[in-house]
Amino acid sequence: MLKGRELAVFRKQLLAWFRQFQRNLPWRRTRDPYCVWVSEIMLQQTRVAAVIPYYERFLERFPNLHALAAASEEEVLRMWSGLGYYSRARNLQKAAQKIIAEHGGEFPSRLEDVLELPGIGNYTAAAILSIAFEEKHAVLDGNVARVLARLGAIRGDLYASRRWQELQKSTDAYLDTTVPGEWNQAMMELGATLCTPKSPQCLLCPVAQFCEGRKLGIAELLPEKRKKRGTVEIHLAAAVFSDQSGQTLLLPPPQERSTEPLADYVPTLVSNLWHFPTISVNGDPVTKLRGHLRKLQIQSQNGSLHFIPAEKVRHAVTYRAITVEPFRISVKKLPRITGAEKVPLREVTVLPVSNLTRKVARAALATTSSAARNR
Ligand code: SF4
Repeated sequence: MLKGRELAVFRKQLLAWFRQFQRNLPWRRTRDPYCVWVSEIMLQQTRVAAVIPYYERFLERFPNLHALAAASEEEVLRMWSGLGYYSRARNLQKAAQKIIAEHGGEFPSRLEDVLELPGIGNYTAAAILSIAFEEKHAVLDGNVARVLARLGAIRGDLYASRRWQELQKSTDAYLDTTVPGEWNQAMMELGATLCTPKSPQCLLCPVAQFCEGRKLGIAELLPEKRKKRGTVEIHLAAAVFSDQSGQTLLLPPPQERSTEPLADYVPTLVSNLWHFPTISVNGDPVTKLRGHLRKLQIQSQNGSLHFIPAEKVRHAVTYRAITVEPFRISVKKLPRITGAEKVPLREVTVLPVSNLTRKVARAALATTSSAARNR
């Protein structure tokens, strides 16, 4: 760990580099805690380039936490639709409502209060408090941990609890407490642009002379790989109804939430959002799907429904490798299912849906186009 003059030079060089080369990102033009918070939540598990248009649209529709708290959950999810990990949007809204109820609508500036908000952990709390309020909290996430592991040539699983605690001490010690918000962003920027997971660009690095990993020639090998959970293969079948005017049926977000869902628990796979009738299968998908439709009370014509297979859809969610077999079912009149909504198949995203559901819709639409071409 650096100390004294070396530490001062390290900080000076990293900050100078950040001030000159930082990316021009919309959330860096404000210190409004609401905007910083929205950006930090969107950036979890999502690339910067993908977040920018969502961030701008979201803030246009919900310019402050009062607007977010007052909106319907459905509308919040619709504005989030396509970003994935929808619990983030639900928690964002719940937290906005809690801030209004318990903090008079002002984003809290004490760490204990921020950590009480749904969806906010240590990293996000430190990021918001340092950037918006200049509170002296150092951030630590996978990105910063990688930089620290290389700087200190730290081996082993960084997420092992003792090692993670050491990394927290290390990030605390590096923190420049005169500009904590800028410092945290500089560390994150280094990890995002130069000290990237593959091929770190050490020749351009402003703190290369302090990097033990580089000196030892092992920077690219750090952090060492974690043991991965084995991939679980999941097979699903989905029913995509369509009537003569191109309308389809989507089922509402599942009400039941299992506390310990199995890997093929459909509500989790569709992100607890609007979805096509879908079932997990391990035999003949059509038989299984017919049985599922029967359970949904789709009695009329069930036996005579014609299932046209669409191209299989592949999707990955954490450790799950999902294959969906969508079946297009053309009907004169869409069946009635309690709670279901009719929407144009071409526009399933008028309701909040998961990426999996979008892919199924696309595959079903491609079936129609190729069927039309072959006619
Ligand atoms: S020298 Fe290379 S490995 Fe070390 S911090 Fe800089 S970019 Fe990362």
